Amino acid sequence: MAIKSLTELPVDSKRVFVRVDFNVPQDDAGNITDDSRIQAAIPTIKYLMEHECRIILASHLGRPKGGPDPKYSMEPVGLRLAQILDTEVMLPEEVVGDGPQKLAASMRDGQIMLLQNLRFNPGEEKNDEGFSKQLASLAEVFVQEAFGTVHRAHASTAGVPKLMKDKGMGFLVQKEVTALYKLLNKADHPYIAIVGGAKVSDKIAVLSNLLEKVDRLIIGGAMAYTFLKAQGIDLGKSRVEADSIDTAKKILKRAQQRGVEIILPVDHVATTDLKNGSDPVNISNREFPADLMGVDIGAKTIALFEEKLADAATVVWNGPMGVFEVPPFNKGTDAIAKLLARSSAFTVICGGDSAAAVKKAGLSAFMKHVSTGGGATLELLEGREMPGLKALE
Ligand code: AMP
Repeated sequence: MAIKSLTELPVDSKRVFVRVDFNVPQDDAGNITDDSRIQAAIPTIKYLMEHECRIILASHLGRPKGGPDPKYSMEPVGLRLAQILDTEVMLPEEVVGDGPQKLAASMRDGQIMLLQNLRFNPGEEKNDEGFSKQLASLAEVFVQEAFGTVHRAHASTAGVPKLMKDKGMGFLVQKEVTALYKLLNKADHPYIAIVGGAKVSDKIAVLSNLLEKVDRLIIGGAMAYTFLKAQGIDLGKSRVEADSIDTAKKILKRAQQRGVEIILPVDHVATTDLKNGSDPVNISNREFPADLMGVDIGAKTIALFEEKLADAATVVWNGPMGVFEVPPFNKGTDAIAKLLARSSAFTVICGGDSAAAVKKAGLSAFMKHVSTGGGATLELLEGREMPGLKALE
């Protein structure tokens, strides 16, 4: 893939437009409750400061309805950024137009401007050419640093880079792209995918694409019940997706054709009362009582998954093994997080729930990569073309 990395771009003393992901969570009073996304972009911003660039940052925040809305102003983000960098951040009131143009023209080397919320202009989500041209005219170099948006063909992700000659990816996007393309194109074997979560229907495309690449597919979470049901096993009141049983059968058949080993749970933690986490019982596939629902993988299953992961060279994990939000039904998910943290394989964690479980257990640093992309990560693993990456080629 011919995408330049930040260090290959001619940025010195140039005006550089950086598409960042500053879509941070805020409380009702507008206070930022988690600034990780701002912190994550700091290495790229500092690199540009060191290279005396005039830095123009742009992001969306929340879902304003195509017009200015004070609730979604970038101002709190700009203030936090200024605090983190201990420098001034210019905050024009508009996204494009006279204000940002004049500021961009008068910026000095090393100065930073944060444009107003991109989604205040309806041209952003429509990938409007006129809007893209206005944004592109602010700078000479384009840097994509918002991995979570590269699956969207918006003005700031696809429109602007198409109009610019010098363009590439910031450090965050490069890390994501390197790890995820390795999973797609050059993974070392044995290569194992672990997939969990609730809905088979949401993950059919990912399962189908990974099935063509992996040696083993481990399935947990509620999703496993649909696969077990497809094999004729009854699981009481467990969450089976009736509409997806045929799909599960097709996936099982394709796995057999390709020689991919599918590993399903052999025992479960089940309960009558999910809310209070009371009376969990451990049951095998064969003796599932009609009035119980499975909420986590059982101890024998954890041991089986451990055995199947032992020789892994590459592991990708998406989706929890149980209702991990309700202790003690987090045990299966935590056990997988610990197994992967100990593994010497190239381990990549995808999806908000798996990443949250790994973070909560304090194990993020022990993984090779924890993807932050959400929808973008899943679409990339589905093998789809990413408009925001295509535009950087
Ligand atoms: P997904 O968005 O499809 O990855 O699903 C994530 C959700 O799956 C989490 O909120 C889990 O609580 C839920 N989940 C995982 N295992 C089970 C299960 N055995 N029964 C019901 N829900 C589950």
